[in-house]
Amino acid sequence: MDRINEKVSIVIPAYKEGTHIFNSLRVIDSMVSSICDYYEIIVVDDGSPDDTWEQLVLSTESIKFLKVLKLSRNFGKELALCAGLENACGDAIIIMDADMQHPPQLIPQMINTWKKRDVDIVECVKRERGKESLKSRIGAKLFYGIISKLTSYQFEGASDFKLLDKKVLNAWSSMTERNTFFRGMIAWVGFKREKIEFDVQERVEGVTNWNMLSLTKLAVQAVVAFSTFPLRIVSIIGILTFLLSVIAGIQTLYRYIIGAAVTGFTTVILLQLIIASIIMLSLGTVGEYIAAIYNEVKGRPRYLISQRKQYENY
Ligand code: UDP
Ligand code: MG
Repeated sequence: MDRINEKVSIVIPAYKEGTHIFNSLRVIDSMVSSICDYYEIIVVDDGSPDDTWEQLVLSTESIKFLKVLKLSRNFGKELALCAGLENACGDAIIIMDADMQHPPQLIPQMINTWKKRDVDIVECVKRERGKESLKSRIGAKLFYGIISKLTSYQFEGASDFKLLDKKVLNAWSSMTERNTFFRGMIAWVGFKREKIEFDVQERVEGVTNWNMLSLTKLAVQAVVAFSTFPLRIVSIIGILTFLLSVIAGIQTLYRYIIGAAVTGFTTVILLQLIIASIIMLSLGTVGEYIAAIYNEVKGRPRYLISQRKQYENY
């Protein structure tokens, strides 16, 4: 493979990856340096409680072109990614996980695809969802199915393992929303893209930082950020229940007039419960959007950086 003259940035969010981060960075470094002369590796420590930050600082002593940032607390992967991207200055930017689930061996191929085939986004899509449990496989299928339907973007097999051209990063930077869903934003911007398939690797060490609750939160956040369809469903349900109540009202009145009114206690209770739950669900849906608006209006910074460090002679 030919070497390239352009500068490449690698952006990696890391949370509780202290045990292996140094070795992982060495592998990533060797893969990038095999094809690039100018590059930088930016690792964002997302307020890890373990020794991730100490390990990163130690790594800057031996890994050239390594820049590390520490966020003031745990802001979550999406925002850690934002911090990394806003500090990247390469002509192409590669985003990957710290746990080696995104094989660094693909880096030269990604860079080549970008350079030779003149594409703006190289997306690595999951061929096999690794050794994921059935539960998370179903969860992922459901999540991507719903969000693809709601937004008309294709998310099947999507991962954050991507290469972006500088102009895509600029487009991304111009999106000022606080409710960031990176995959969705990159789908939204358009540009010429190409896919590379990859097999998700096993996590080198540690455990996944996601649980059912945080995944549901991400799913709600993604839907709210990219679709107003749930709000429309609320209106549609409203219209339907209104029509139903008109019909039921006419029927009840008619029975009353002809003197055949019966004591339908069960029906009343059931209707009460159903309607009350529909109202609660609808209020909750509207509430999610109001919360999202509230967060945008506050205009707080997306994240705060508490420390920075880089290779001495950089
Ligand atoms: N991560 C992060 N902040 C968090 C949780 C995760 O920066 O609050 C990072 C983590 O270090 C890893 C990437 O996001 O580099 C993906 O996380 P993980 O491996 O836990 O998720 P999974 O691979 O199971 O989707
Ligand atoms: Mg992982």
